[in-house]
Amino acid sequence: MAYATYASASVVTSGDTHHHCEECGLFGRIRPFTEFYFYFFIVLYAFTNSRAYLCDNCATSLGWRMLRKNLLCLVGVPFAVWVLIKAKIRGSEPLNSLPPGNALALKGDFRNATAEYERIERRLPYANHPGILFNRARAHGYGDDGDGMEELIDSSLAACSNYLPTVQWMREDA
Ligand SMILES: [Zn+2]
Repeated sequence: MAYATYASASVVTSGDTHHHCEECGLFGRIRPFTEFYFYFFIVLYAFTNSRAYLCDNCATSLGWRMLRKNLLCLVGVPFAVWVLIKAKIRGSEPLNSLPPGNALALKGDFRNATAEYERIERRLPYANHPGILFNRARAHGYGDDGDGMEELIDSSLAACSNYLPTVQWMREDA
């Protein structure tokens, strides 16, 4: 019965919404964001747009970059503002609270990142999410704590022995 509960779609995270960011590589809620720039030079104008699948932290960075680059011609400013707003809309889902922990992880501040991650883990209906353990391992890695990183990598693989991001990370470092 416990296994059935763990395996149900309502408990295990959906790969459609939560996976690893193509920009920073950390586990989180990933959504499509449109990167749009508009340029105007006296009689010529040009615009570029592309789509990226990002976590909320990377989307916030993208939004500020778009705002800076679009300020001169103003046309692209609403697109930048929308990216910033979209990145801040999180709802009550525990895993949508990952961005503060991920931001601390990327800075190598693994002690405060761990506190953030543990706050989320307490709200989850199951323990040892391999994606969160992956992020915690990255935080220790960025903070030059190799022993802590290895311990958390082992924990991530113990939670899910074929968790692809952790397995790929191990292959890259081998
Ligand atoms: Zn990211």
